[in-house]
Amino acid sequence: MDQNHSDIAVPVSSGRPQRVIVVGAGIAGLTAAYYLNKLGLEVHVFDGAGRAGGLVQTRFEKERYLVEYGPSSHPAKHEHLEGLSRELSIDRFELTGRSRRQFIYSDGSLHQVPTTLLKLMSSRLITSVGKMRVLAEPFVRSHSKEGETVAQFLRRRVGEEFLDNVAAPFIANAWAGDPEVIELKASNSKLLELEEKYGSIAKGAFKEKDALSQQDVVSFRWGMGTLPARMQEVLGKAIHLKTAVKNVGFNERGNLVVTFQGHDEQMAADAVIVATNASAASPLIATVAPRAAQLASNITSAPLAVVHTAFNRRDIPMRVNGKGILVPRLQSARSLGVLFSGALFEHRSPDGEVLLTSYIGGSTDPDALNLDDEEMVNVVRRDLHITMGISDKPTYMSIKRIKEAIPQYAVGHTRRIFDIDQSLDQVPGVFLTGNYLGGIGVPDVIDHARRTAMKVRAWLRRTDKGIRGSGNMEEGDRETRRSETKAEQAFPDVPIF
Ligand SMILES: Cc1cc2nc3c(=O)[nH]c(=O)nc-3n(C[C@H](O)[C@H](O)[C@H](O)COP(=O)(O)OP(=O)(O)OC[C@H]3O[C@@H](n4cnc5c(N)ncnc54)[C@H](O)[C@@H]3O)c2cc1C
Repeated sequence: MDQNHSDIAVPVSSGRPQRVIVVGAGIAGLTAAYYLNKLGLEVHVFDGAGRAGGLVQTRFEKERYLVEYGPSSHPAKHEHLEGLSRELSIDRFELTGRSRRQFIYSDGSLHQVPTTLLKLMSSRLITSVGKMRVLAEPFVRSHSKEGETVAQFLRRRVGEEFLDNVAAPFIANAWAGDPEVIELKASNSKLLELEEKYGSIAKGAFKEKDALSQQDVVSFRWGMGTLPARMQEVLGKAIHLKTAVKNVGFNERGNLVVTFQGHDEQMAADAVIVATNASAASPLIATVAPRAAQLASNITSAPLAVVHTAFNRRDIPMRVNGKGILVPRLQSARSLGVLFSGALFEHRSPDGEVLLTSYIGGSTDPDALNLDDEEMVNVVRRDLHITMGISDKPTYMSIKRIKEAIPQYAVGHTRRIFDIDQSLDQVPGVFLTGNYLGGIGVPDVIDHARRTAMKVRAWLRRTDKGIRGSGNMEEGDRETRRSETKAEQAFPDVPIF
C-alpha cells in the first residue's frame, strides 16, 4: 500500500464520513473524481497500478519518440472534452490531425477511403455489382430486429461487399472487434436512428449532413497522456496509486466500506464509484450487487498489441500523408491497421523520420498476443512491406501487449447494461462508470463519468449527506454550437464516412 493510503485509512467507527471513493484512475475515474472534487466533496481515488491514466499511456521514449500505447487522438468537437481541456488549461496545446485521408489495403494496393457515395462509386474497393447493391439501399424495406449485429445490419442494407471491404476494417480498427458479434444498437445507434427515421441510411445521411461524416482528430502537444496527467495534478493527494481495491460492501452498521487487497484496513464512504473495466468491476461489486456483477462478468474485452516503428523518411517508398491504413481481414497482411502517427501529428519523432503505429490482434485474432517480440516485429515489418513497400530496418521499435484493450459490445449489450443499471439502482451509494457502459471513445467515457458524478451528487443531496462546497459543475462548460453549413452542396452527394 502506498504511504498516502495509510494516512487516510479511517476506521469505520470514526464518525460519519462525507466522502466519495473512486476505484480506478483511468479517464473515467479521474473525470468523475475531478468533477466531484470541484463540488467540494472529499474524494479518494484508488488504483492498483503504479500510474494514473489506465489505458491512456503516452511515453516519451529514447528522448526522441512520443508514442501512444492507448488512445492516440479524439474528435476535435466534443462539448465536455473541450470544456474539461479548457478548465485544465490544456486546450491551448491541442494539435489537429493534419489529414482525414485514410486508406484501405485491398488486392495489393492502397485505396483511399471513399468519404461520399459519389467517391464510393468511382472507388475500386467494391465491384460494380457491389456498387449497385449500395445504390439500392434506399429501396430496402426491412427493419432492424432486436439484437441485430453490425454485420447483419450492413449486409441487409448495403450488401456483403461493402461490409467486408469497407465497413469491417473500420470496426476491426475502432473496436478491435468482429462485426458479426458487435451489436448495432450498442455500438452505432446513429445508423439505427437513420433507418428508423428515414427508412434508409442514404436518405438520412442526405438529410442530416453531419450524421455519418468523420470529424478531424485532435491530440495534445505532449500526447493524450496530458489529460490524465493534468487531472492527477489537480486531484493531488486524493489519488492513491499501487492500492488495489478488493471489495465494496456494507459493514455491520450499514456503512458503505471498501477493503484493499493485501491489507486489513477498510475505508468508509458515502458513495463509491467503481471505474474499472467490466472484468475488474465484477468481483468488486459481487457482494453488494451480485446480479450486476454477474452481468458485468459477461462483458469481455478484446486483446490488442500496439507496435511502434520509426523509419527514415527516405526509406519509405510512398508519401506518408493521412491518418493511416486499414486492413480488411481477408487480405494477406495480419495487422488490423497502421496509424501514420508521425505524419498526423507534429513532434512525434526526429526530423527526417516517420513514426508508425501498427495494431495487431483484436477479437478475431487473439492468438497474436502470444507471438514473442521477434515474431511480432516480423509480422509488422512484413505487413509494412506489403502495404507500404517498406523493406528497410526501423530506427526505433517498441511493443505493448494489452490483454483487455477494448470492451466488446456483443449482442445483448444494450439489455445487459440496462439490467446492470436497474440492479445497481437497488444498491444505495454504489455507482459504475467506465468504457463498457456508454461508449469506448475517450469523449464517451468522459460523458459517462461526468453523468455518474452528477448522479452521485444528486444521490448525496437526496440522502442529505453533504455537499460541502459550492463548486458549480456546469461552470466552464460550453454550449454545443453546431456550425451551420451556409452553402448547400451543389450536387446531392452523401457523406458516408
Ligand atoms: C490501444 C488502444 C487504442 C485506443 N485508441 C483510442 C483513440 O484513438 N481514441 C479514443 O477516443 N479512444 C481510444 N481507445 C479507447 C480509450 O482509450 C478507452 O476506452 C479509455 O481510455 C478507457 O478508460 P476507462 O477509465 O474506462 O478504463 P481504464 O483506462 O481501463 O481504467 C481503469 C483503471 O482501473 C484500475 N483498476 C482495475 N482494477 C482495480 C482495482 N481492483 N482496484 C483499483 N484500481 C483498479 C486499472 O488499473 C485502470 O487504471 C483506445 C484504447 C486502446 C486500448
